[in-house]
Amino acid sequence: DWQQLQGDLERIDRNQYGAYKQLLGSYNHIQPKFTLSIDYVQGDPYASPSRVRAVMPWSETNLPDEYFQSDARKIAVCDFVTRVAADFIRTKHLDQSLGGSGGGWSGPKGGAFNINACGQEVLPRTSALISNNDTIELRFTTTLPAAGRTILGEQAWQILGVNLVELVQKALLHANLDQQKLQQHVLSVERQRGLREQLASHGLIAFVANGSILPRSSGASSRPMDNAVPFQSPKESEVTLKLPNGSTVQGMGIPKGITLLTGGGFHGKSTVLEALELGVYDHVPGDGRELIVTDPTAVKIRAEDGRSVTKTDISPFISNLPGGKDTRSFSTDDASGSTSMASSIQEALEAGCTTLLIDEDSSATNLLVRDQRMQALIKKEPIMPLISKAKALHTQHGVSTIIVVGGLGDWLTVADNVIAMDAYTPHNITTNAAAIVSQYPSVVHQDEKYGSLPLRKFQVNLSGLRSPFAPRKDFINLRPQAKDPVSNPAEAESGIDLSALDQVVEVGQARMIATLLSKVAEQTAMSHLDLSALLKALDGAVGTEMCLPAALGDGELVAVRRFELAAALSRLRGLVVTC
Ligand code: ADP
Ligand code: MG
Repeated sequence: DWQQLQGDLERIDRNQYGAYKQLLGSYNHIQPKFTLSIDYVQGDPYASPSRVRAVMPWSETNLPDEYFQSDARKIAVCDFVTRVAADFIRTKHLDQSLGGSGGGWSGPKGGAFNINACGQEVLPRTSALISNNDTIELRFTTTLPAAGRTILGEQAWQILGVNLVELVQKALLHANLDQQKLQQHVLSVERQRGLREQLASHGLIAFVANGSILPRSSGASSRPMDNAVPFQSPKESEVTLKLPNGSTVQGMGIPKGITLLTGGGFHGKSTVLEALELGVYDHVPGDGRELIVTDPTAVKIRAEDGRSVTKTDISPFISNLPGGKDTRSFSTDDASGSTSMASSIQEALEAGCTTLLIDEDSSATNLLVRDQRMQALIKKEPIMPLISKAKALHTQHGVSTIIVVGGLGDWLTVADNVIAMDAYTPHNITTNAAAIVSQYPSVVHQDEKYGSLPLRKFQVNLSGLRSPFAPRKDFINLRPQAKDPVSNPAEAESGIDLSALDQVVEVGQARMIATLLSKVAEQTAMSHLDLSALLKALDGAVGTEMCLPAALGDGELVAVRRFELAAALSRLRGLVVTC
């Protein structure tokens, strides 16, 4: 059967590029046993690349069956083999471009093969999938070779018939994988999930193990910083959690309620918050944050002026806007700092968030506080700041807040837990802070009731738009098909800005959001769904914390949480909310 691939390539050699389409279908390789499935063939050499999958029976890999005994293990194994394949492709490509032996690894647009690149997080990805506990597959893209528009059959054989086999052997066979590293990868993910699961029973929303390395090597790299000061919990905050092997780990526990992260400028406050933001994900061994875990429903909130808002209830924070605008169903094309932040908080709560993560640096101050003098000076203030709502939010709805505060001392009056960063080392100053509050009292109004949580029903209409795609992790493109801005007002808008979503870490997640949005549009064109119903309609798999509909054919998608999908949806210009 593998000879048939060679035969087919010989037959179409020197033909017009379009004849590559004859390869669509599957070919069986015998030793090792796997099936090459050619799912999509590009129309010309510079079109988006062709998509192929190599599907191997699990028994053929010789990997232990215990690796598919839980979702966590399957995710870890698939993430690992994706990294092995990506590294192997990169090395081969580099080797060839340096004049090394063995051709066919470089293509006209860089590597002949491409597999979705991974960052520091271990995530469910469509680049590698275990199905029905009996196969494992790798998905990649490949650029089929041509001279002008003429098929180069022999080179294509080198790529698909020879190099791909080597790649599959390197990435999927037990004998070629670094068993110790693979085991570490799996254990590390199990450890993180185990820690995250213990949070609730200890009354915690986050845990940072002693010895963790929080800062990254630069603003442009998510690798750990060299020579960083390792994290060391204050004694008062230290908790002990269990590891799966029976041993224990100590670190700082952040309890439910309201926690302030404070301290002088440049002492490491934002770095702690950023580590907590990404503690909803598992990290690779060696990352430095692999024992930092956060409530999986924690959502980072920022001010984001200019964003679009559609019929969000922001009345807990804002009422009596000039012009009598109804804030129980607030819409705008161009939100202000405070209205954007109020909307983002309410939308996170709508999606089921139980921990808000906020940094004063990236907030609208007037949504966080209003001091006594401003209360006296401005009587017609439409904003009720978060400081007046955070306690009610916790007691009424069980939602905690972790907030970085450098300058807003009023927040001390509502804090249950105060951590001060001093030269990257945390101190628990809750008692001291209480003393300061009685020494310098201030009147901070507390609302008894938080107010309503929103629950919108959506209809998504993308007609007239090309199906959305994500060229970057912070942007989804929705370019219109038509070229007439008058008959198609959406023409003026080009996409969804995800740059305020700090918990989107890979472009594959943005692609996933784009893919899900087109599915949402398909499935809700006629109906009116609220968020939960909408997620359910997408796929059965969405009930879990991550959405990864395995049925999607693409190998470049990475799981996202419902929160990021909901946030993207809420930012869609032209979203229809029916009630
Ligand atoms: P803040 O928010 O308190 O102003 P940041 O968190 O932005 O401070 O940190 C300031 C700088 O210190 C950053 O460049 C960061 O990378 C660095 N940094 C943070 N934590 C550590 C640490 N544990 N060891 C070494 N450098 C750190
Ligand atoms: Mg900061």
